[in-house]
Amino acid sequence: MISVICGGVGAARFLRGLQSIVDPHDITAVINTGDDVVMHGLSISPDIDTITYTLAGAIDPQRGWGLVDETWTAMANLSRFAAVRPAASRAGETWFNLGDRDLATHLYRTARLAEGASLTQVTGEIAAAWNLGVRLLPMTDERLETRVEVVGEGEISFQEYFVGRRHSVAVSSVRFAGADVAVLTGAARRSLLDAAVVVIAPSNPLVSIGPIRSLAGVDELLTARRSSVVAISPIINGAALKGPADRMLTELGYESSAVGVARLYAPICSTLVIDQLDAHLAPAIESLGMRCIVTDTIMSTPEIAADLARSTLAAAA
Ligand code: GDP
Ligand code: CA
Repeated sequence: MISVICGGVGAARFLRGLQSIVDPHDITAVINTGDDVVMHGLSISPDIDTITYTLAGAIDPQRGWGLVDETWTAMANLSRFAAVRPAASRAGETWFNLGDRDLATHLYRTARLAEGASLTQVTGEIAAAWNLGVRLLPMTDERLETRVEVVGEGEISFQEYFVGRRHSVAVSSVRFAGADVAVLTGAARRSLLDAAVVVIAPSNPLVSIGPIRSLAGVDELLTARRSSVVAISPIINGAALKGPADRMLTELGYESSAVGVARLYAPICSTLVIDQLDAHLAPAIESLGMRCIVTDTIMSTPEIAADLARSTLAAAA
């Protein structure tokens, strides 16, 4: 069994490679839910959905999120209500795009949660509906909300920062509201304990892996089995491939490089996989007490993702 600690797009691409080289039923994904948001009364889990759609082969290849062949009729029709919405109301907001096909997922999830099902249960049902072999687990069944302090503006939700502000504003701090109450699910804990190898996917270390690490016991659990925990750097040549991870690292006082990632992960992880472009950083990473594996990590094709998964598993063996 292999357990993968996941954010969204980078993790989804890695899992797609991994499921092509090992039996998907031997893979469990423990997924960030700090980005989850309620819009129009609908419960939306962006990282879970990105992974579900990618593994199903249904992700939109251009956008990298949402479903292929998507239409936007419901969104377009919301604009009718902009003129009548009271100033204080958030009804009918259109800054967060929800495609017509994608809406079906959120309708199903919301209805099942209202019936009393846990997010773990519903996530499993949605994965089964897409015929996935990989087991998808939310990190928690409780509410943990990533909140971002924006310079000159104050605290906003992660989606307001990421989508609403297009992550183009400077951040002074990040916190995980509810982390003191939310617990890692039993299923996620067993997966992280029992797996032969734990992989930390190439995801944003602060706002994708960070929320999972903020749950009580997670860092301790990983530290105790550190020798079989392997991470893949999401930072290549000092930059993120997409998204704000690089700027966020710098703004919050970390180094935006594979070495900065190594410093964050050294306590919980024995091996870091870095890109060829960063080969010269290997000695600095090894001086932090980690093994360093150098390979191609830009998963522009499923074949490269499969090779990266193979190298990652070999590094753990
Ligand atoms: P989300 O997709 O917005 O939820 O964010 P993630 O945390 O999953 O992913 C963002 C990070 O993944 C960025 O720092 C990217 O550089 C990294 N990432 C995305 N694709 C790849 C890839 O193919 N290889 C590597 N090494 N990192 C990637
Ligand atoms: Ca995310």
